[in-house]
Amino acid sequence: VSRRPWGAAAKPIGWYDEKLHTLFTKKGYAQRFQVLRYLVRGKKTPFQTMDIFETRHFGRVLALDGIIQTTEADEFVYHEMMVHVPLFALGAPRDVLIIGAGDGGILREVLRHKSVRRAVMVEIDGDVVRDCARHMPALNGGAFKNKRGQVIVGDGIDYARKARSGSFDAVLVDSTDPIGPGEVLFTDGFYRHCRRILRPKGVLVTQNGVPFFQPDEVTTTRRRLGRIFRDMTFYHLTAPTYIGGMMTLAWGANSPAARKTPLATLDKRFKAAGFKTRYYTPAIHKAAFDLPPFIAELAEKAGRKKRG
Ligand code: SAM
Repeated sequence: VSRRPWGAAAKPIGWYDEKLHTLFTKKGYAQRFQVLRYLVRGKKTPFQTMDIFETRHFGRVLALDGIIQTTEADEFVYHEMMVHVPLFALGAPRDVLIIGAGDGGILREVLRHKSVRRAVMVEIDGDVVRDCARHMPALNGGAFKNKRGQVIVGDGIDYARKARSGSFDAVLVDSTDPIGPGEVLFTDGFYRHCRRILRPKGVLVTQNGVPFFQPDEVTTTRRRLGRIFRDMTFYHLTAPTYIGGMMTLAWGANSPAARKTPLATLDKRFKAAGFKTRYYTPAIHKAAFDLPPFIAELAEKAGRKKRG
């Protein structure tokens, strides 16, 4: 649970109910946070409605279109697993493309890898970058000012379409869900651009929802990415505020080499990197690819359909 009781003294002013699309309507299930104060409330950006509010146990929380994106208390889980699994598997990545990730957490973790000389972050909504930098600065932790990082405000698919072939070792897609501006980032066209701009041993990792509530995200991504990448699978993490248990991240690569990096090698690389993490370890890295049957079956079924 939270390391610091944020705003412990403040008196709550009400509740924030997450509106996780179908969950809230069809399944009648949602998470809610007791709000101490709003820093941004119902702000209509050109792409979505943004809220940033303060809570006692999760610190500050960013929500877009009513869906929880990240909280100060548990953001480390998702950001460490989306970044350190591909980057330690690759060994010495130099160029990393980040799509979405407007809060800066992914950029912060990527720049901890000294081998990275260029991390390009393409976020469609400049308001998210500005308001998170202002109200949730710990998320980017100074990464927005790091010379090795480059923040571009634009559509990720446009950037991927124009980027030079073979120019990145990793593409990390930390987008919102496949509704609204994020929808284009779950298409064959976008994935083909990702494959083209990746180096031969490069890796694509994408945010792929919580299978317990969004099983179709596993089946559609398996079918789509399986047609475009020879080595396609998922790995999992469990973050308290991505409700529904395990979350999957999709992995696409043209060579299985990175995914098969032995534990001993990951251990060596992790020790050499010399930085502390709160969720990622080389053992968790390897175990994360072990999918429980309820997720593996979704992926297999989709894979069989593809060949069928
Ligand atoms: N970690 C969060 C999660 O798993 O839901 C997502 C964090 S981040 C806030 C998601 C970002 O994706 C948002 O800031 C949104 O503006 C951005 N985004 C959505 N569609 C995009 C697109 N087509 N190109 C670039 N960024 C996009």
